[in-house]
Amino acid sequence: MKNNQLVMIPGPTPVVRSIMDQMAREIISFKDVEFVNDFKELVLDLKEMWHAEEAFVIAGTGTMAMEIAAANSVKAGDKVLLISHGYFGDRFIDLFQRRGVIVDLLSSEWGKTVSIEEITKKLEENSYKAVTITHVDTATGTKADIETVGKIVSKYDDTVFIVDGVCASAGEREYIKEMNIDVLLSCSQKAFGVSPGLAILWASEKAMNRRESMGTIIDSYMDFLKWLPIMKDPMKYYGTPPVNLIWALKESVRLIKEEGLENRYLRHAKDAAAIQIALESMGFGILAETGSRASTLSNVLYPEEIFDVDFRQILSEEGVVVASGLGEYSGKLFRLGHMGNIDKHTIVSTLAAIERTLYRCGKDIDFGIGVGIYLNEVMR
Ligand code: PMP
Repeated sequence: MKNNQLVMIPGPTPVVRSIMDQMAREIISFKDVEFVNDFKELVLDLKEMWHAEEAFVIAGTGTMAMEIAAANSVKAGDKVLLISHGYFGDRFIDLFQRRGVIVDLLSSEWGKTVSIEEITKKLEENSYKAVTITHVDTATGTKADIETVGKIVSKYDDTVFIVDGVCASAGEREYIKEMNIDVLLSCSQKAFGVSPGLAILWASEKAMNRRESMGTIIDSYMDFLKWLPIMKDPMKYYGTPPVNLIWALKESVRLIKEEGLENRYLRHAKDAAAIQIALESMGFGILAETGSRASTLSNVLYPEEIFDVDFRQILSEEGVVVASGLGEYSGKLFRLGHMGNIDKHTIVSTLAAIERTLYRCGKDIDFGIGVGIYLNEVMR
């Protein structure tokens, strides 16, 4: 009998029934009062829950959100400090350079993070219009200490702090005000547990002042000032809002409120630590260093004699789909997403399928070892 498939890639993540139902609703006019009120409430919730001055929900993916953050913060000739912990941090290089922005790059070896001392030194020696960092780099599974970096950047009045929260927001702790974040960018398909299609951004007062001071910018669809009137009153029009996705995100935010943001962060942290110990007990390694491991995904190094393509093929037959490694880690690891609205049933089933896969790959495994360790860690 064929196993049900669990999609355990780091986005899109599994979509729960109540969110799916919102996507399946019959379309109504985006000027219908019911939708306008729903959209307005969603933006207010996002602002309140993440302690932000403004929030934006715009049709697009995470990359679009990166572009929006860049377009509203810097212009040609400006200098940015780019802190990169992997593939998605590096994605900012081309994105800024196409805009004529000068990039100063600080990058770490994959699995490690750039030291706070290096960041402090760069900021002391140079003047930057913006600093960017990826909260969780999905290629490496490393989590950046955005709180400490934010504190350092906040000493510089003319520097905005941009955080890529694509693989973090709604799974890892992020508060705009307390963490001195100026632009937090994210999207719908990861820890929010909605299908792909929405760019989500939060902005501080400092970020909005920066945008105002830039005057007319070359982008229109990506301009905060074009969308601000719509975010305040969705009865106004700039571009047609993706009605069903906005409803789906509203349902996701309702679920988050019901769980409590802090409880949600704690659940992710506890599950991730337990999953990582369980995987290590089965002979895998975790690429990210202890102390900077993400709660939203794990980048899992294969033990000797386990081959990537075979492993992922058998795992998929056993009912779990994971993602391959990127860059130099292609073939050396698999990426396991564990964020959003996944429950213990899903995690236990995933670990059990990994055990069956190891067995089928020829490893002498004690069945239940990973599942047992996970449950012991997470339940006691
Ligand atoms: N930033 C990070 C950290 C990501 O993980 C991703 C996608 N995996 C992106 C940006 C780009 O997002 P998208 O694929 O939705 O354009």
